Amino acid sequence: MRTATLNAFIARTESFVQRIERKTKLRKQRDEISALVKLNRALGEQRLYVDADGRERLIGWKQPKRERPKCGARTRAGGSCKAPVVRGRSRCRMHGGLSTVPKTAEGKARSAAGVRAYWERWRAARAAAAK
Ligand SMILES: [Zn+2]
Repeated sequence: MRTATLNAFIARTESFVQRIERKTKLRKQRDEISALVKLNRALGEQRLYVDADGRERLIGWKQPKRERPKCGARTRAGGSCKAPVVRGRSRCRMHGGLSTVPKTAEGKARSAAGVRAYWERWRAARAAAAK
């Protein structure tokens, strides 16, 4: 009994510490990014930055948001997305522009299976509508 409560207490404390560590890391990262952004605005250059999750990001606005091409993904309302694309990508941040893309063979297969399933459903829906 006693050890159970003690273990629960230890686990809680550990998760608390982890949360604080993560927060500190994120704050540090934010400070670094804002410093980089300022530098880039001044120099007009882009810089590669690897964030806490190991993602590579380009810091610096080579193209202002409004001058970037439109995303063009199909929206739920039926139109095409008018948001600017993520730098170096062809879609906006809401439509997969931030995706780092499946890297493993298994992930790629899963992604392809999803696409195949989507078109299967689409064909079925069209066939049903034609009847
Ligand atoms: Zn979009």
